[in-house]
Amino acid sequence: MTEFRKVLLVFILFLFTTCGGKEPLNVVLITLDTLRADHLSCYGYQRQTSPNLDRFAAKGVRFKNAFCTIPCTLPSHASIMTGLHPYSLSLGNNNTHLTTEVSTLAEVLKAQGYTTAAFVSSFVLAPETNISQGFGVYDATNDFVVEVLDRSSNVYPGRRHALQTTRRAVEWLRNHTTATQQPFFLWVHYYDPHFPYVPPPEFDRFGTFAQSGTCDLYRRLESKEISMSDVFSIESGVVSDKDIERGIDLYDGAILSMDYSLGILLDALHGSLSNTIFLIVGDHGESLGEHGPVFCHFLLDDPCVRVPLIVVSEGRLPQGQERDDLCSTLDILPTLLSLLRVGQSSLPDSVERSGRDLFAEPIIPPRAVFADDGVKLFMVRTLFSKTLLTEDGNVMTFFDLVASPDEGRFSDPMQSSHDEEAQTLLSEFLVQVQSKKFTSLPMGSKERLESLEALGYLGNSRR
Ligand SMILES: [Zn+2]
Repeated sequence: MTEFRKVLLVFILFLFTTCGGKEPLNVVLITLDTLRADHLSCYGYQRQTSPNLDRFAAKGVRFKNAFCTIPCTLPSHASIMTGLHPYSLSLGNNNTHLTTEVSTLAEVLKAQGYTTAAFVSSFVLAPETNISQGFGVYDATNDFVVEVLDRSSNVYPGRRHALQTTRRAVEWLRNHTTATQQPFFLWVHYYDPHFPYVPPPEFDRFGTFAQSGTCDLYRRLESKEISMSDVFSIESGVVSDKDIERGIDLYDGAILSMDYSLGILLDALHGSLSNTIFLIVGDHGESLGEHGPVFCHFLLDDPCVRVPLIVVSEGRLPQGQERDDLCSTLDILPTLLSLLRVGQSSLPDSVERSGRDLFAEPIIPPRAVFADDGVKLFMVRTLFSKTLLTEDGNVMTFFDLVASPDEGRFSDPMQSSHDEEAQTLLSEFLVQVQSKKFTSLPMGSKERLESLEALGYLGNSRR
């Protein structure tokens, strides 16, 4: 065989092994806490908050109408990891833990021979919550929250800046790729856009007070003149219009700062682009004053429940595609398993999942997606309307999103027929989620309770 033919044969073998679908694909899941889709430049925001994410999103599919199942960190992540609604999991707030009876994505992939590793940035997702199920490496901050805001010491217990989490994940990646050829499932969670927003000064680039270090709301929080619960409560009236304006500037700065770290992580993964599925998603959004509350996310309004969702897999999925069909974070698990050609029968808990494979042909969008607030209200969201109902079907609020896309109150002469449709959809949903209901116990850890309280998660504002 001539030298040329040898080289050609090696090249053909290389193509066969790397592109022929024989090699197991890696999975990278990146969850971006408290991130509103409409504050990302790739979703049309006028500020350039996400240059790295924008570039990456252009390589894949961007979903414009994706919704979380609950605007609350732990239960929302539990949905992403299990494909089950928090109502099925009996998870309504952050002071609970995921039952071990349910199968997670990490457990399934581990059983398939994957190395699994997670790097999370908030104590809210600490290993004690059981969201760590199936991860061989679970790297989290173990600090609890004592002071929620102390800018003088530049220390924010209970959370890690995206750069710290990224460094840990990149170090793990380097060691993993050197040590083994095993496919990996990597989950990285960033928390920067969560209140209080504290971007490093170089990323505080937006608005009149950019890089001035001033924020009157933070000054009052630090001096304990006001509490986090006061900030989240409309009745307290402690947040002025100027505070909101500065808060939004800082929120956008926090996104920009997170995006910088995301760029480092994606650069580190560049060599794995051709054999990896990337899924980037928000766990919930954030209220920035549109409907009263600010800097929190316990409502079922779109600012709190609409999330960015981007899937990239070079050579397997379309590039630069925008999808506007309805989808839910419940679709993540079935979509990833389908792309990996792992049947849902691999889930040992044998629970039927309602999520769909987002890339199945033909695309059949659901009639509605569902969320709940963990306390009393359910959301039935279609592309054109939103209805908020109690568990027994009482319609509390209806929004005609065609007439009023920003969820302003609008009187619709056809509302009674919409109400009936929403009641039917909710009742079908409840039958499905109640068919297998898991129990969850409160955490009970004194430190965790105190930390959640300090962050304003307990009481009136639970998220
Ligand atoms: Zn969250």
